[in-house]
Amino acid sequence: MPDLLLPTTPIVRPDKDRFLNEENPFEAMMARFDRAAELLDLEPGIYKVLRNPEKQIIVSIPVMMDSGEVEVFTGIRVLYNTSRGPAKGGIRFDLNVSLDEVKALAAWMTWKCAVVNIPFGGSKGGVICDPLKMSIGELERVTRRYTAAIIATLGPDSDVPAPDVNTNERVMAWLMDTYSMHVGHTVNAVTTGKPVAMGGSLGRREATGRGCMMVTKEALAHLGMPVKGTTIAVQGFGNVGSIAAQLLQAEGCKVVAVSDRTGGVVNRKGIDVDHAIAWIKEHKTLEGYTAGEAISNEDILLLDVDVLLPAAMENVITTKNAAKIRAKIICEGANGPTTAGAESILEDKGIFVIPDILANAGGVTVSYFEWVQNRGGYYWTEQLVNDRLNEIMVNSFAEVLKLSKEHKVNMRTAAYMLAISRVATVHRLRGIYA
Ligand code: NAD
Repeated sequence: MPDLLLPTTPIVRPDKDRFLNEENPFEAMMARFDRAAELLDLEPGIYKVLRNPEKQIIVSIPVMMDSGEVEVFTGIRVLYNTSRGPAKGGIRFDLNVSLDEVKALAAWMTWKCAVVNIPFGGSKGGVICDPLKMSIGELERVTRRYTAAIIATLGPDSDVPAPDVNTNERVMAWLMDTYSMHVGHTVNAVTTGKPVAMGGSLGRREATGRGCMMVTKEALAHLGMPVKGTTIAVQGFGNVGSIAAQLLQAEGCKVVAVSDRTGGVVNRKGIDVDHAIAWIKEHKTLEGYTAGEAISNEDILLLDVDVLLPAAMENVITTKNAAKIRAKIICEGANGPTTAGAESILEDKGIFVIPDILANAGGVTVSYFEWVQNRGGYYWTEQLVNDRLNEIMVNSFAEVLKLSKEHKVNMRTAAYMLAISRVATVHRLRGIYA
């Protein structure tokens, strides 16, 4: 266990205007960080260190477009903290990428890796672009030039990317190839989330949804609720949402509502998740799916269910709708679905929230397994991957729950306290260089 008996020097007072911008992800992260730091009585020096990203890189990426014209994109990579090991974090291609967002996501990765106690720091990256309007060739050139531009910090011992919004296994294969060409030999441990054929891990694709299923079962057990017949609503039916729904259904839960960006369906008798997944495979979205009554993405959050699983995007549970949420448990499959302002409303209502940095940590945990397998050159069976994932998710849930009871705080604050204390302990042991 990390050292939670911290010095009693008062911390630097947190900023006062944290909630001015409910939707700014860096502020949302910092609001939670400040609360946990105050409770931990974190010493001012370490507080200042942990509040600032280690390195922020902004690069211009010139790319020859198919039209023959040169376009210049902006790429960002933030290494938030590497005290516990190489930085770990995804790369997203999106028009909404901003430095504030990347900084917040990099900090989240730092805390997430620390909560599940894997030996990584946190990072995140992105390129401001609209991948839906780009050809495969253009995407490949953006990926390769972005990789080359940040190559000085990339590497299995320094910074290990993974797929995120609008990037996938294919993009990771290009990144791995570009890095390998630069260093002169194949380095598959430079990234995770690769195709299995080139060193990806079995079970990685399902890992985040599987982790959500595992911690949801732990929460049900903690609250004395049976798994069988538990009703579940899932917002977002992509990688995380669909797999979590499928695995929870296999455990005996009843998935009563699912949605994606086109809207959703609700059916009190239960939705056949395998059937919905097959529909998506054929039609790409849930549009036209009639296994229940139509429901909007706003209303799916307000259903009277046992478990709500937001697995789409940030800031969907806010001060505007939190009071109307009726679920007993919220399992945050997405990153940052609940704003800091909404949190106290959920707490007052007695809703048990499994926070994102714990609930969706299954993905980075199996990414860690992938990195270990690449470095060892010895590959595990899917069963071994799943068993080891279960051990980490169940133990991490128990550690966070124990801390939340000891300090009489909610699961999110407890998760931040555990993560921050683990990172702070390493800073104390390492000291300040030079
Ligand atoms: P995905 O692209 O596979 O799926 C996203 C789903 O959300 C799709 O069904 C999409 O239609 C839906 N969606 C998009 N906008 C929506 C809207 N406005 N309302 C409702 N639904 C909407 O992405 P994913 O990998 O499943 O990631 C989902 C969330 O989980 C993201 O927040 C991501 O950061 C987080 N996450 C993913 C992983 C992972 O391993 N994939 C790991 C940790 C966290």
